[in-house]
Amino acid sequence: MDRGIAVLAYHRFDPLHGGSTTVTTQAFERQLDWLDAHGYRVVALGTVVESLRGTTGSVLGDVVAWGRTVAITVDDGHVSVYTQLYPIVRRRHVPVTLFIYPSAISHAAYALTWGQLADMTLSGLVTVQSHTYWHPNFHVERTRRTAADYRAFLDDQLVRSKAVLERRLGAPVDMLAWPFGIVDADLRAAAVRAGYRAAFAYGGGPAHRGVDPFAIPRLPMSDADQGTVLAARLGDAGLDNRLAPAAPGRAVP
Ligand SMILES: [Zn+2]
Repeated sequence: MDRGIAVLAYHRFDPLHGGSTTVTTQAFERQLDWLDAHGYRVVALGTVVESLRGTTGSVLGDVVAWGRTVAITVDDGHVSVYTQLYPIVRRRHVPVTLFIYPSAISHAAYALTWGQLADMTLSGLVTVQSHTYWHPNFHVERTRRTAADYRAFLDDQLVRSKAVLERRLGAPVDMLAWPFGIVDADLRAAAVRAGYRAAFAYGGGPAHRGVDPFAIPRLPMSDADQGTVLAARLGDAGLDNRLAPAAPGRAVP
């Protein structure tokens, strides 16, 4: 049965305090432990896009059919991605995609620097993709601009982000996360014009083959996503837990 692929969406990490967009490092590690104990494989986001299009080979096809595949994404470029998340990523060797809006990098007090981003991408575990240039609310921008101005604004936000990230980090950028998850037909068309191959929403459940490639759902994650709560969100009713490899010495919630 195709249970789809869950694209998990995070923002910030903190050693002690969780919140609406902050996950504690302990809760994050417990989530990784749970996924591991239940036979989930964390794959690169590009692999997810290819799987959803049905363009990959049989090995991944099997994984997708098994329905125990997730990808990890982190939006906005908060400095805790480097200080808290990155050590975990390196230790556990999990691939992560960062959706970055370049205007904040090496500029906003809370944000990562270009040096930190470059450092992380050199690991081969961290991929940087676009979150527009300065994270506008497209609903607001549409109401205060003329139609022509709004279209030019869209193109600039999508093209400039891609160009700056590619120039700064030397790697192709062809995926996009919509700020605030706002997406409509005009935004989809702009993403195609700008040369993106996929774009991600913010909300929904696991993605299935045939999904709109410019509005792929993601699961916003919090500390509460543990055990049966996490299983339910992943569409995993626990029916096939016998398939999960044993996790020696670890209690499986
Ligand atoms: Zn964002």
